[in-house]
Amino acid sequence: MPAIRGANSKKKTRRYTRDLDQVHADLASKRHLEQYHETKVPEDLPALGDYYCVECAKWFESDVNFQGHKKGKPHKRRVRLLREEPYSQKEAEAAVGLGTDNGRRKVEDGGGEEEMEVEDVS
Ligand SMILES: [Zn+2]
Repeated sequence: MPAIRGANSKKKTRRYTRDLDQVHADLASKRHLEQYHETKVPEDLPALGDYYCVECAKWFESDVNFQGHKKGKPHKRRVRLLREEPYSQKEAEAAVGLGTDNGRRKVEDGGGEEEMEVEDVS
C-alpha cells in the first residue's frame, strides 16, 4: 500500500484583509458588511467577532486592542485612503446583489433625446 502524503496540506493562510473597494461598499451599505460577516464563523474570530474595524476589515481580541487600534497610524491612514474615493450606496447595494460582475457597466451618456433639425420649407 503506497502512502500518499503531502497532497492534503490544508495550510491556508487566512487573510483578514479586504480590498479597499470592498471596504468602501461595507461603509456605504450595512447589508454589504453583514453579508461579508455571514461568511465567517464567529468561533473562528477573535472575541467571537465582537470588535471589528470596518475600515481595516480587521477583528480584535479585546476592547482595549480595538480602541488602541483606532488611535493608531495604520487605522488613520486607512480612513484617509477611504475618504479619497467615496463609494456610493447605490454601488454598494448593487454589489450585494451581484457578487461579481464583469466590472464594466454600460454608461449611457449624452442626452437621451437627439435634437432633430427640422427643415422649414414653406
Ligand atoms: Zn482600523
